[in-house]
Amino acid sequence: MGSKTNIAWTDATDNPVFLLRDDGTNGGHWCQKTDPACANCYAESVNQNDFFQFASHLPYTGKPPENLHFDRAIVEAWARKTKPSMRFVCSMTDLFGEWVPRQWQFAVFDAALAAPLQIIQLLTKRPAIAAQAAREWCESRGQFLLPENVWLGVSVGDQQAANRFRGDAWLMWQFSQITWVSYEPAWGLVDWAGWEFINWLVIGGESGPNAREFDLAWGEAAIAWCRKHKIPPYMKQLGSKAVVQVHDCHQPPDNWAPFGSSGKGTNISEWPGGLRVREFPVQFSADYLAARGKAA
Ligand code: SF4
Repeated sequence: MGSKTNIAWTDATDNPVFLLRDDGTNGGHWCQKTDPACANCYAESVNQNDFFQFASHLPYTGKPPENLHFDRAIVEAWARKTKPSMRFVCSMTDLFGEWVPRQWQFAVFDAALAAPLQIIQLLTKRPAIAAQAAREWCESRGQFLLPENVWLGVSVGDQQAANRFRGDAWLMWQFSQITWVSYEPAWGLVDWAGWEFINWLVIGGESGPNAREFDLAWGEAAIAWCRKHKIPPYMKQLGSKAVVQVHDCHQPPDNWAPFGSSGKGTNISEWPGGLRVREFPVQFSADYLAARGKAA
């Protein structure tokens, strides 16, 4: 169970929230755009595309469909896995959307607690709701914090989002053992002052036909800030429109092309040396790394 993924910082994706068709099958996904960073939502494009098995064809706007469903079997299966893995949960929607019942969020936290071998990576553009859900779960379960294998993250694409989300991200941190930021798609320079409480910073330029520009200097600045505050940085990709606008930014190597050979800037050998960093917020043991695989 779970899907293989090309997302470099995880091993598999799980999507327990989906539309249930009348015949009981998976009818695709839905979310509601909430932030300028959602403009080129990859999950929405998947849902519009017949190529994908679970295309719902719904735009990620308007009212939530009535047939949204939470499949407990997907999250309860984590406890039976003998192989450790990192799992990005709800990659096709926002688990902390306003329309998502609290018991679905609790079910994810409960399942994570029962599956300590699995790292459950959550990412939201609604950090206020995530913080509230985490607080309520801790209170109702008699816990001080979420399980240590829950990595609770917030998406921050530019300075406006950083300003808007910082207070709520700090509330998330109060109940989360690993609090992280996905600065992807990064589409503006961010001054990270005040974010020193986070445990991990993932950085990446936007990919796809409508990708916004990613200045390599923004990535370098984010990494330099991480180094100063001993926060592990993880450079995921340069994206489809990487640019160099700041003169003192390290120049890319000769084999670098504006779109990168992958089209998404995922080929690390084409990056400037200073951007080639992929660190995680925990030190994985040799046993863990040996047992972990890219299997779903
Ligand atoms: S919150 Fe995420 S999944 Fe939902 S519309 Fe925005 S980018 Fe897409």
